[in-house]
Amino acid sequence: MFYPTHLVAGYLVGQVGTLSVAAVVAGTALPDLIDKPLGVIGITAQYHTVAHSALSLVVLGVLATRGWVWLAVAVGWGSHLALDALHMVLNGRPADVQFLLWPVVEHEPQVSQPPVEWALSYLGSPSSLAELAIWLGALTLFVRSGETDSRRSLS
Ligand SMILES: [Zn+2]
Repeated sequence: MFYPTHLVAGYLVGQVGTLSVAAVVAGTALPDLIDKPLGVIGITAQYHTVAHSALSLVVLGVLATRGWVWLAVAVGWGSHLALDALHMVLNGRPADVQFLLWPVVEHEPQVSQPPVEWALSYLGSPSSLAELAIWLGALTLFVRSGETDSRRSLS
């Protein structure tokens, strides 16, 4: 799933609930901000490791007991992992969902294309259509919230 879609999904989740939208969006951003650099500089062998592990959700679950901001971050973080897993299932790679089991299971992902080649092959896939639906949902919600705000200012 493209990184900006995680942020947009966080916006959607934050709008639907009563949690801080900024904290939920921050939670959606962190897994890739942590794991991608670790993979790029070679500390980990893959891009879905520490912050994409279900164990990270256990830690966040403990932090979530400390207040609403941590709960919002945990919800956003969880949505990121859920969307990454959904993306793999939709695109016919359910075995890759094993990334959630890191470090217990170190799974070699089925996709190993360079980023540009991957992005081009990704367009039109079932997961890319799911991403489109997320963007359209967020756009609709954003426009409707603007309409509501302008009606409030007129009355
Ligand atoms: Zn991710």
